[in-house]
Amino acid sequence: MSDCCSVSHKEKISTEIKCPTCDQEGKQVELLTIRAMTRRDFTHYSELIPGFLCLNPDDSTVYYFSNLDFTVNQDNVVTDIGFKTNAKTKTICYCFRHTKQDIIDDYLKNGKSNIEIDVRQKVKDKLCTCEVSNPKGKCCLGDIRTVIKEEVVHD
Ligand SMILES: [Zn+2]
Repeated sequence: MSDCCSVSHKEKISTEIKCPTCDQEGKQVELLTIRAMTRRDFTHYSELIPGFLCLNPDDSTVYYFSNLDFTVNQDNVVTDIGFKTNAKTKTICYCFRHTKQDIIDDYLKNGKSNIEIDVRQKVKDKLCTCEVSNPKGKCCLGDIRTVIKEEVVHD
């Protein structure tokens, strides 16, 4: 899990395999993450099958596959998918349970993001479990900064 939180990580956007329900590009996700996130039993599927996360906030599909004829939707995942429009909880940091509102409130109250500082320290201390806690299977630090940029700082 050592490099899962590297902040320079670029999102791997798939240009070839589009979501079958919304026809938009998704992001490839490790099967380990999909297994941890879904109620469906994936144990008999090969690790070689690419799985993708649908990034469209308005589509209820969460995961889809390049060569399987089913999708995994929000009813079949074990956590809320914070970036989906109809998510009950807008979770951004899944390892330490910070919502979008928590991040905004924290920044407004302190004039800086203590949550970001705290998460960064915990990443350093290897306390994060992004691969099996975050539906994206990666670190949330970039998402925390996006929230601050888009909702608070507006730069
Ligand atoms: Zn979709």
